Amino acid sequence: MKKCFNKMLYGGDYNPNQWPREIWQEDMHLFKQANINSTTINVFSWAKIQPSEDTYDFSELDEIIDMLTKENIDIVLATSTGAMPAWLVSKYPETARTDYEGRRHKFGQRHNACPNSLVYQKYAGRLAAKLAERYGSNPHISCWHINNEYGGECYCESCESAFRVWLKSKYQTIEAINKAWNTEFWGHTLYDWDEIVLPNALSEGIGSDKTAFAGISIDYRRFMSDSMLENFKLERDAIRIYDKQTPITTNLMGTYKWLDYFKWAREMDIVSWDNYPAYDTPWSYVAMCHDLMRGLKNQSFMLMEQTPSQQNWQPYNSLKRPGQMRAQSYQTIAHGADTIQFFQLRRSIGACEKFHGAVIAHVGTGNTRVFREVSQLGDELAELGDQIIGAENKSDVGIIFDWDNYWALEYTSGPNADLKYVDQIHQYYKYFYDRNISVDMIPIDADFSKYKLIAAPVLYMVMQGVRESLEKFVEAGGTLITSFMSGIVDQSDNVHLGGYPGPLRQLTGVWVEEIDALAPEVHNSIKFSDGQEYMCGLLCDIMHPEGAKTIAEYSSDFYEGTPAATLNSFGKGAVYYVGTQPEQAALARILAIAADQAGCKSVIGEDSNLEITCRFSEVNKYYFIINLSGDKQPLPKACTGMIDILSGSVLSAETEVEPFSSFIVKEKI
Ligand SMILES: [Zn+2]
Repeated sequence: MKKCFNKMLYGGDYNPNQWPREIWQEDMHLFKQANINSTTINVFSWAKIQPSEDTYDFSELDEIIDMLTKENIDIVLATSTGAMPAWLVSKYPETARTDYEGRRHKFGQRHNACPNSLVYQKYAGRLAAKLAERYGSNPHISCWHINNEYGGECYCESCESAFRVWLKSKYQTIEAINKAWNTEFWGHTLYDWDEIVLPNALSEGIGSDKTAFAGISIDYRRFMSDSMLENFKLERDAIRIYDKQTPITTNLMGTYKWLDYFKWAREMDIVSWDNYPAYDTPWSYVAMCHDLMRGLKNQSFMLMEQTPSQQNWQPYNSLKRPGQMRAQSYQTIAHGADTIQFFQLRRSIGACEKFHGAVIAHVGTGNTRVFREVSQLGDELAELGDQIIGAENKSDVGIIFDWDNYWALEYTSGPNADLKYVDQIHQYYKYFYDRNISVDMIPIDADFSKYKLIAAPVLYMVMQGVRESLEKFVEAGGTLITSFMSGIVDQSDNVHLGGYPGPLRQLTGVWVEEIDALAPEVHNSIKFSDGQEYMCGLLCDIMHPEGAKTIAEYSSDFYEGTPAATLNSFGKGAVYYVGTQPEQAALARILAIAADQAGCKSVIGEDSNLEITCRFSEVNKYYFIINLSGDKQPLPKACTGMIDILSGSVLSAETEVEPFSSFIVKEKI
């Protein structure tokens, strides 16, 4: 159990630099009123603290830090490198990014630096070092926050040169590159490293998200993720010269596609992330993102940002309904968060985030619904204290999430354009979520032996060693579930020859001969042995059992009567193969067979439409009971007689759980 903080940080992004001094004092007063104990500052202040190439001016930041220190408010100190100052881009245009279409950008926006610009690296590293030298010994700085929401991509000449260096280190010879990228196709054979051009709209790109050569495009993703990670490490190492202890993070973004977060998390002391679901995002999806963020380090995490109510950048920015922010905050803690932080504390006066919600609205007082709800939660979290910090979530189920697969599956041309990696993972996650069966989101190289059941849907790319570790897990008695589009390619997107699902053929006990793609308006159906039929679509594997038993078969088209889902015994374990995308009820039937066989149970041992999650401290179990269903729900029998530690009231059998209500009950271990 790892604790990065000795109290639950409650607060968020605070930009006093955007306001006159008299407002600062009002802020301090309102923060106390809402029990806000933490502020994230200096996120976008580079131009303020370094007004020119040779000048640094920390006078205002000194004042802000002095004020917060006097008020005993913790500080998450950002390094400001997420948006460059105008002078930097004006003097060194190569610090700005070149986009996918090959256009060199001018000054503007944020997340705008070329990660391979030596000038950007020099000034970003120097700024981080100066901040750490000046403030690193202040005990009120509880966390360093490097940059902000790393992301995007660059296609400039500096990146192209750096890509060649990255490739040389990975492949050693040009022959190895030609083999990996299958350049014989279309006669793209390369004879010299300098002939390698980066893959964008001017070269191998097809539209904005497809490519003629997935091998090079996937490598560019890996390279770009690594390049930005090098930027993070540069600042982290600069801070560590002056501050050896304070945890260092950067805020991640859930299932954000372009950065391999498992690789990133190894370099971070604690994962933090920004949770911005849309009005129609399923709660199961939000929970999956929290579990993924916890899974990155298998450790509790920070919620660096959520809006107290409204967002500004979605198409439809609905308000959080009364009680919703509280319920979402407890959902976040339930899945492993040790902090609750908002973007932002005071709503800005202008620019594109002026409609983004804040603890203090434009009216400028605490007399708002949102402020009252923030204050209530602040009181409750202060009352909870540090008892939940570092408490663990324990799971029998692991679901593999893998960025190489994410990139490769969505780059591939065919068989079905509607095939999306995260959608597929979520369909499997949702089954367990709906039944309150705790799930860990795990990397492809996780220790599988901790789990009873592993789900690895669309495990399209199977790299060296993956077959062996999955076989070892199943042989020892584990249950594995995989699906169509698994075992198809190697690390360079070249097909594993000898019949699909390639290296998983023996494990699954099936040979997939053909893959039919169904347009959105076309369906097939699958039939179970009891005659019950369900719709299916997207893709239909036409397969031959090679030892596996049929669980369900197709009920129409020329492959009617052939297997659609199978079960194979392997060693002491079992492997389920789902060859199509069945409707949720049918997938649930298959997953129920697998979960029962593996012995995976709900955290309270009974069905409920409430979200129920459990965190384990060294002495207590904490059950989080949250109604995200939209309707009143009965309390599970197992919870009657328990005390809700948020309200102090005893939960009775008659307790009806109102929408967005949240309880926490604790039990001695
Ligand atoms: Zn670049």
